[in-house]
Amino acid sequence: MWTPIVKPLALISLVAMPACASSSMAKSAPAIAAAITPPVPVPRVKPVVVSVAEKQKAFNAWKADFTQRAIAKGYPADLVRSVITPTKINELALERDKTQPEFTSPIWKYVDNAASPTRLADGKAAYNSNTAIFREIEARYQVSPYILTAIWGLETSYGRIMGTHDVPSALATFAFEGRRMAFGEEQLFAVLDILRSGAVTRDQLVGSWASAMGNTQFIPTTFRDYAVDFDGDGRKDLWKSKADALGSAAHYLSRMGWRAGEPTFAEVTLPQGFNHALADGSKRSISEWNALGVKPHNGQNWASGAMGLETKLIVPAGANGPAILTFKNFDVIKRYNNSTSYALGISMLAEALAGRPTLQTPWPKDDKQVAFKDLKRMQKKLTALGYDTKGADGIIGPNTRKAIQAWQVKNGLPADGYIEQGMFKRIMASR
Ligand code: CA
Repeated sequence: MWTPIVKPLALISLVAMPACASSSMAKSAPAIAAAITPPVPVPRVKPVVVSVAEKQKAFNAWKADFTQRAIAKGYPADLVRSVITPTKINELALERDKTQPEFTSPIWKYVDNAASPTRLADGKAAYNSNTAIFREIEARYQVSPYILTAIWGLETSYGRIMGTHDVPSALATFAFEGRRMAFGEEQLFAVLDILRSGAVTRDQLVGSWASAMGNTQFIPTTFRDYAVDFDGDGRKDLWKSKADALGSAAHYLSRMGWRAGEPTFAEVTLPQGFNHALADGSKRSISEWNALGVKPHNGQNWASGAMGLETKLIVPAGANGPAILTFKNFDVIKRYNNSTSYALGISMLAEALAGRPTLQTPWPKDDKQVAFKDLKRMQKKLTALGYDTKGADGIIGPNTRKAIQAWQVKNGLPADGYIEQGMFKRIMASR
């Protein structure tokens, strides 16, 4: 078995230890899960047919205008020109930004991929090669090195895939056209701030098509506000300095409210007849969940020291899949990437890196996903039946989930708000 070299901070004990127990906390620590966050369908922007030359002319006009406005804001003219003048339209960034999947991927596909055997093995190697850095980072920020390693692994495969796009060009493209104009401008101003600070040079600004940079994929505003020079060489080099990149990620999580020693999630068992509508994002203490019959999945009792911790219940694959309590730290991970699947993937990989068990309840992998166009039909159907989804956009948001749950209660089913082909067909056949 792989033995971590760095001994991380102990987790708060969630389950009461039998008097004779000698097993480590690691054995009883939980696993993850969360509500599926579907990709938001991108509104179709009506294509304006222009020639390449016309488009280039318009882009040049945008560059001149932005340059003028940035100088008027007080940025040095030389600096603004050094950033903006070399930018080129990035057609790939626009294309990627418009791509809309037909189906939402099931959460287990994402989570299994996040904690795949390859990523886990690579993660152990990456962790073991950087133990001194992780030890110093944990001493300063009290953030779990396993979580940091998992973020590093999911963001860039431990620094192997950091992106090859000129970030100012991608941002200028967004600012110039498409649905992300405000984002593009805001990020470009952040780029100017970063360069003015002297922490980075223009030619270092290479990243993903969406402008995320370095080992831990910081967008410019996050870079400007949270990146740190952890190795103390006077630069914030998130590309080549692992200490800077991982230290910056830890600093960010710390500032977002990371709680030392608290887990991110705990897998639980729900009692017979449990009201799944309680998995609605509202916070309850472990003590309150305990009173509702929610127990640790391993069959033990909650530790008295855990009773006051606030958590949310998620059943990301419905009543037939895992049930999970998520802690404050789970929400902190979502500040890195606002997706339950992401936070679950990070948590699972981190647990595996720590040598602790992950989710015990199998995912309902035979469930078939429902296409966005069918979800829209279902929303219309529910609304016609008197369960108002407040619109039909193909996304299972809070209103649609409530409508599904109300329909499920009316039809004597567990109100988990979860939709797969079977439930979809029942709703569509409903009168
Ligand atoms: Ca540095």
